[in-house]
Amino acid sequence: MTDSDRKPPESSPHPPKPRPPQRDDDDLPRPSPWGPILLIGVVLTLLLFVNWRPFNSSGPEVDYNFFWKQLDADNIAELTFTGPLVNGKWKKVPEVPASQKKLSETFSLRLPDPARDDQKLADLLRERDVKVKAEDSAPALFGQMMTGTLLLLGMLAIFFFVMRRSIDPAGTAFIGSFGRAGAKRFKQTDQRTTFADVAAMEQAKLELTEIVDFLKSPDKFHKLGAQIPKGVLLMGSPGTGKTLLARATAGEAGVPFFSMNGSEFIQMFVGVGASRVRDLFQQAKENSPCIIFIDEIDAVGRVRGAGLGGGHDEREQTLNQILSEMDGFQATESVIVLAATNRPDVLDPALLRPGRFDRHITIDRPTKEGRLQILKVHVRKVPLAKDVDLADVAASTIGFSGAELKNLVNEAALHAVRSDRSEVTAEDFDVSHDRVLMGAKREEILTEHERSMTAYHEAGHALISWHLPDVDPVHKVTIIPRGRALGVTQLLPEEDRYHYGERRMHSQMAMIMGGRAAEKLIFDEYSAGAEDDLKKATSLARRMVAHWGMSELIGPVAFRQGEEHPFLGKEIHEAREFSEETAHTIDQEVQRFLNDAANKASKLLTEHRDQLDAISKALLKNESIDHADMVKLLGEPVPRTSRSVSA
Ligand code: ADP
Ligand code: ZN
Ligand code: MG
Repeated sequence: MTDSDRKPPESSPHPPKPRPPQRDDDDLPRPSPWGPILLIGVVLTLLLFVNWRPFNSSGPEVDYNFFWKQLDADNIAELTFTGPLVNGKWKKVPEVPASQKKLSETFSLRLPDPARDDQKLADLLRERDVKVKAEDSAPALFGQMMTGTLLLLGMLAIFFFVMRRSIDPAGTAFIGSFGRAGAKRFKQTDQRTTFADVAAMEQAKLELTEIVDFLKSPDKFHKLGAQIPKGVLLMGSPGTGKTLLARATAGEAGVPFFSMNGSEFIQMFVGVGASRVRDLFQQAKENSPCIIFIDEIDAVGRVRGAGLGGGHDEREQTLNQILSEMDGFQATESVIVLAATNRPDVLDPALLRPGRFDRHITIDRPTKEGRLQILKVHVRKVPLAKDVDLADVAASTIGFSGAELKNLVNEAALHAVRSDRSEVTAEDFDVSHDRVLMGAKREEILTEHERSMTAYHEAGHALISWHLPDVDPVHKVTIIPRGRALGVTQLLPEEDRYHYGERRMHSQMAMIMGGRAAEKLIFDEYSAGAEDDLKKATSLARRMVAHWGMSELIGPVAFRQGEEHPFLGKEIHEAREFSEETAHTIDQEVQRFLNDAANKASKLLTEHRDQLDAISKALLKNESIDHADMVKLLGEPVPRTSRSVSA
């Protein structure tokens, strides 16, 4: 198993996504496109000139049969062969019917292929005593050479441009740089998003309503001397709709929206970011009332003086510029600065102090009701079959963010398209749910032994969670290889659980150990497939001992080991604050916790060996079983403790 208890990481680092490079014409030199175009033009003209040299048609072209007749009548004075082309001179200009074009003294002719080395033609020419000359077709050859050269030059030109563009970080498309030197850098978005597009998040919307009111009629506030917070920080995990909410705030107030990503400030050259900040605020002030939105502000707003790699000079300058711009607002200027981040913990305290981003809005993952609302927003354009119950979907997607729900709907629609249906059915949602949660199916042929080992492994997880009342109930068990896993036991976590007790964690560890214990019990060996399980269990045990004071031997102390965000540089300077001895004790306690959990798991499985066999048999037969199937096999599970919703 790999994923038995899906808990989306709360503060997983969310690196700023790479954005398409921002246009920035005035800061960096840009290659002129005119040079190569001129060059290509010249070469083309030359080439045409070469091809048009009148080496071929010295007179009107005549038909091959007509030429034969004239040759028969001994009316040809002279012929010059140039490849398949022949130029000639009549002895006497032949008469043609009035309807046709008059012929002149010379003529040209194109020899059809079979006539090229026609012996009869040669004989007749000799017989009639025609003067025959031959010219080689060098000009044509020259033309070919020119074409080759042209191609080569063209390729060189393209290569040259690609090179230039990759050196210039703010480069734009080759053609795109025409006449756009004065292009707007911070575009106002055209399509209006309003609060109606944002489902749920009532609390956040409520807090932003005041801002909207202010932007709509700033004078009302100014008159009373009321101060509106200049800076609002939206905090929440990725995909919870921060960007969406910021855009909707601007749309709701009907004011311009200047948006920039934090990472766009960071450039190769020190000072570019600061100058962009200056520019952004300048533009905003000219367009007030308006909203400035700095997305993923943690990219610039990290604690100053920290950070490992280079580049923090630029970041500090940029951040300082933002701070001083925010301080420099006049009381009459109605510019609101919104910022979003999923790492509020790393922000520089100076950013958060009063007068700057002092209003904080936390955006949580949606509740069941919220998920239903969000789903409703995203199925607006999706034709649903009658058997789809969105409330059901919402209930089974605990922990999903808005973005994940959107993805779920989209995957379901895609599956419906793939199966050639005109409506999205409940089955599509089911497939999509599995795919989003556990990754795409892998087409893999496993040996009988591998399958059976996987089945027992997953059955082990499932059975232990069946018998331990503190862990979440089993939702589904599969041995269909997906993502990185050969099999998955999926538990149904409880809605909005804030309290995690010690007992629950011990049970959790035992459940995680269940897969491995089953392998040992049945096959008398461990497999490498349990690596993920072990990692998870170990990390849980370590936190219990060192952070949450759950070991009697260690006692109520939190030992920070700076393990959490080593890449921040902030914690890396924090020396370990405990002795070697304590470290040793911690390790021993962690080991004891893990051993206890493993023993508990083995014991439970040995006791219920028949049930273990039954589950794995069902798995091998059906590949996938759910809660109801398990109830049929084993009867009702042990009643859950402290569970507010029944599963
Ligand atoms: P964040 O900026 O917090 O990472 P986004 O604002 O980019 O997340 O959200 C990603 C997408 O998820 C949005 O474009 C939207 O389609 C969807 N989404 C997130 N939250 C909601 C919501 N409350 N209502 C409707 N759609 C949402
Ligand atoms: Zn496992
Ligand atoms: Mg965002």
